[in-house]
Amino acid sequence: MGAGMQVRGRVLSVASECVPLVKTGGLADVVGALPAALGRMGWEMRVLMPAYRALRPRLSAMREVWTEDGLFGGTGTVFLGEVAGISVMLLDAPHLYDREGGPYAGPAGDWADNAERFAALSWVGARMAREGIEGWKADVLHAHDWQAGFAPAYLAYGGTGGVGSVITVHNIAFQGWADAGRIGALRLPREAFHPAALEYYGGLSSLKAGLVTADRITTVSPTYATELLRPEYGMGLQGVIAARGADVSGILNGVDTDVWSPEAEPVPYSVKSLKGKAANRAALCAEFGLDVPSGPLAIVVSRLTDQKGIDLLPAVVPDFVAAGGALLVLGSGDPALEGAMRGLESRFPRRVGVRIGYDEGLSHRMFAGADAVLVPSRFEPCGLTQMYGLRYGTVPVVAAVGGLADTVIHASPAALSAGVATGVQFHPTDAIAFGQALRQLCALHANPALWGVVQKNAMRHPVGWETSAAAYAALYDGLAR
Ligand code: ADP
Repeated sequence: MGAGMQVRGRVLSVASECVPLVKTGGLADVVGALPAALGRMGWEMRVLMPAYRALRPRLSAMREVWTEDGLFGGTGTVFLGEVAGISVMLLDAPHLYDREGGPYAGPAGDWADNAERFAALSWVGARMAREGIEGWKADVLHAHDWQAGFAPAYLAYGGTGGVGSVITVHNIAFQGWADAGRIGALRLPREAFHPAALEYYGGLSSLKAGLVTADRITTVSPTYATELLRPEYGMGLQGVIAARGADVSGILNGVDTDVWSPEAEPVPYSVKSLKGKAANRAALCAEFGLDVPSGPLAIVVSRLTDQKGIDLLPAVVPDFVAAGGALLVLGSGDPALEGAMRGLESRFPRRVGVRIGYDEGLSHRMFAGADAVLVPSRFEPCGLTQMYGLRYGTVPVVAAVGGLADTVIHASPAALSAGVATGVQFHPTDAIAFGQALRQLCALHANPALWGVVQKNAMRHPVGWETSAAAYAALYDGLAR
């Protein structure tokens, strides 16, 4: 927070991931970005997350602020410290978190005790919010996704202590399922095991628990908030969302415009002069061993999963390549999709380049050098890569769903003549519509005057946190009592 700024209130953010400590997806970016963005609005935020293996040494100025015996089978200790300007509290509970592997899974798949592991995080979050931490008393508890879903429930059933609660749905596909028989072990009231409260298809869902008990629900785009009312997007929770009516709202994610800045790339460029982009493009082609294409150089930076529509690429890439395009893919995930991407690369070695893995530095070089970013998702709560694309003048070609629909202005004839288009949208998410969108991309790219306008519109489109942080601040204001 800025020095001398008046504190509007305090928020305890409870999450399983936070950049720069742990990230498996966009959730971590958002959790890591909110403290600074909200700090500028006068809301002081601390993040509570698990102390996964080897995390503690990454905090500076660390001290113990909380301890609790008998925390789901062991002792939990909370350490408060700082990383990258964020006040982080790590819940150190070695019996739950000191393991080889990722946050949710080890070498043999998902951890069998995930319900307890994240119930513990939620439990401590609710207690710290309710009781205060050395005089630091939260006005609002902000729970993120299924991992923190039980936190509002513990407040609702165990006493709120005057703390308001918000749950943000970053992806409703992950619901935190647990057997009904674990309700007592999870410290939830058996009386609440009925459809209007905790019961979910005969079992428990930590996400549902949060959705029925939090004071407010947000999701990460306005369109996703309305999509969630429909079965194909709500994935079982559409009725729960509908029942909350006006308590549900959509607030778009932003991106860190200092980190994601074309002016910070190897050959800097800006909306005033895109000249540097051509040099980045040539370097990128060389890095991947591609011929420099006459048509658009497109990229995909993504988890390789069904959600992301990656399986559509083999159907559309041959025509795209024939039209002069080239494609670079960076991602990892489903082995079948990884194989399909490798298959495209061996079929078009000079036109398609694939890197299986996770590489932040490379993703920056790809956005700096490419002409377009492809995001053919089947559903997309918000999506970040289309926003990186906008910022870099790397024109987004997106399925018209969720946050993709909310952030990209489709190059319709009307938008083009009004001079406001920032990209291409297509619907539905299938190979026919995607192929058509790629043909439109090629046509736009072949018209340098038009292309330049779309690129510059994209780069001028605000993708920072300002608007969204103001929306969260207003939401918190309404909850602070
Ligand atoms: P999701 O959270 O569903 O994976 P988002 O678009 O919201 O999708 O966020 C994904 C984030 O992860 C973005 O910051 C994206 O750049 C990054 N990312 C995904 N895959 C990779 C990869 N292989 N290498 C580098 N960054 C990646």
